[in-house]
Amino acid sequence: MFGYSRWAALAAALANTAPGRRHGDLLATPADLAALLRAHDEPEPVDVDAGDLRDALAARDAFTGVFDAAPDEQALAERLNTLLAGSARPRLVAHGGVPLHLHVDAPGASWGGWLAASGAMGLALLVAEHGADVLRRCAADDCRDALLRTGSGPARRFCSATCASRVRVAAHRAAQGRRGSPAAS
Ligand SMILES: [Zn+2]
Repeated sequence: MFGYSRWAALAAALANTAPGRRHGDLLATPADLAALLRAHDEPEPVDVDAGDLRDALAARDAFTGVFDAAPDEQALAERLNTLLAGSARPRLVAHGGVPLHLHVDAPGASWGGWLAASGAMGLALLVAEHGADVLRRCAADDCRDALLRTGSGPARRFCSATCASRVRVAAHRAAQGRRGSPAAS
């Protein structure tokens, strides 16, 4: 995964660190943030401090709002546009032996500021390419993780095979229960 797809995936992963029904807060320390960035192939040095974490948590709140707004096009666009206006300053740069490439955050932004800018840009480009429907939440009621519905094939409703099979097993058991005890309807 590269370019804006990676930024969008990072935005979804950031949103999914928020405490939910299946786990607590997965972004509680600067080390958690560094691990998230490294897991999404951010090159070293990944040096993260308390200020980066604070800004990343603000970005997380914003992305949570974006995924909650989806697939309402207008609400989704308003939230992403607000986030872009506050964080993004796209520009071409060459440095450290790397040829011209796109930076989307403001010069000197924290890791959290970078997450807000690149995540918002990644999600906006994804929506522009695939439609507002691309931003979803997992259909498992006990999960509701943010997911990106990209690629061809049947509409992806679940964040993972684990959620899909858990819901399938629960539905199967419920059906068996109905058959097994006619009195319980
Ligand atoms: Zn799920």
